[in-house]
Amino acid sequence: MDLRESADDRSFRDEVRTFLEDSLAGEFAALRGRGGPGDERALFEERLAWERHLGAHGWTCVGWPKEHGGRGLSLRRQVVFLEEYARARGPGRLGHIGEGLLGPTVIAFGSPQQRLRFLPPILAGTELWCQGYSEPDAGSDLANIATRASRDGDDWVIHGQKVWTSLAHWADWCFVLARTSPAPDRSARHAGMSYLLVPMRQDGVEVRPIVQLTGDSEFNEVFFDGARTPAENVVGDVGGGWGVAMGTLAFERGASTLGQQLNFRNELDAIVAAARRSGTAGDPVLRQRLAQAHIGLEIMRLNALRTLAGGEAGALPPEALIGKLFWATFHRGLGELAMDVLGAHALATGDPALRRLFLFSRADTIYAGSNEIQRNIIGERGLGLPKEPR
Ligand SMILES: Cc1cc2nc3c(=O)[nH]c(=O)nc-3n(C[C@H](O)[C@H](O)[C@H](O)COP(=O)(O)OP(=O)(O)OC[C@H]3O[C@@H](n4cnc5c(N)ncnc54)[C@H](O)[C@@H]3O)c2cc1C
Repeated sequence: MDLRESADDRSFRDEVRTFLEDSLAGEFAALRGRGGPGDERALFEERLAWERHLGAHGWTCVGWPKEHGGRGLSLRRQVVFLEEYARARGPGRLGHIGEGLLGPTVIAFGSPQQRLRFLPPILAGTELWCQGYSEPDAGSDLANIATRASRDGDDWVIHGQKVWTSLAHWADWCFVLARTSPAPDRSARHAGMSYLLVPMRQDGVEVRPIVQLTGDSEFNEVFFDGARTPAENVVGDVGGGWGVAMGTLAFERGASTLGQQLNFRNELDAIVAAARRSGTAGDPVLRQRLAQAHIGLEIMRLNALRTLAGGEAGALPPEALIGKLFWATFHRGLGELAMDVLGAHALATGDPALRRLFLFSRADTIYAGSNEIQRNIIGERGLGLPKEPR
């Protein structure tokens, strides 16, 4: 496999780099490096304006097909875009749930009317989304959801509670997995669910922030108490929501994370600089762990390239299945390394960005499928092992 960048890819990289350098100046200069994990509440209005700036210049949704308003970029070029975004220290995206999860789902499973209604505002950065899957008794075991929706005239009426709903406090819309008919029995729990698009700004939706370790509250509890959405806002078939929900999860765990090792590279560079400043760079054990972190990044980069080489047709090859487990475990370890380099006082007085890295990366091995669930996926789908007993 040829891993070298073609002249065309290099000139594309230059185009992205120039756009970001020109844009992250003036009114947007203060956004560099802000709004990432653990810092989500920072500079909301400015980051919203940034979303619209990206949209106006055609730099949102770059992997969506051209016919749906995207740039139709290959996986390889999407990664170039993400790498350059990380290199420029572009701000944490507010529109990533619409762009990375809901949009691709509507493109794959939605009706033509749904595509017309919901895709343009995501492209333009004018509507934000959140994901309403998890509930107090349904996380890894998502089929256990209890939120229900029933028909009342031309509407669905929703009752139930979601939890860990990232960015619900800002979202205009939520994609909600709800039960629209009872499961026939426990073994058929995946039947009878529907995938509903629900407006957040209405009576009957209450968002309660949950304060996290970082002191920030990136996620929330969301209570639906008679919230309504028009009958046509079901993606896929009524009762066929499980398949649609799994499609969204595949997007969440897939290509969107292929370029993130450059964000991690920035963090490792900051840890190495801190080690030099504090003198801990001379400690042989820490030196070894810093080198190991560098190796981990290289493995991630090479696995991303291998995935790209196997996945140009659009679908990701089987080796992509290890991506989430690897990056999440790596990143949690990177946070621990940062604290060990900075010393015992780090949590109280250390560099705020590295403190956030340590605290927020505890969540990486949980969301978008915990490490244990990822191992099940690798075993069952990647290696063809027997399914775990249920
Ligand atoms: C920062 C963050 C943001 C999130 N954002 C969202 C969001 O926007 N929308 C949303 O819907 N959800 C969101 N989540 C929820 C996330 O998807 C769930 O936390 C995750 O699916 C795990 O579910 P749970 O918390 O209920 O844990 P549980 O499923 O109860 O798991 C508890 C423990 O048991 C283990 N376990 C469970 N089942 C198995 C099994 N079959 N085999 C082996 N081990 C198992 C798990 O690995 C875990 O260690 C977010 C979570 C976090 C941390």
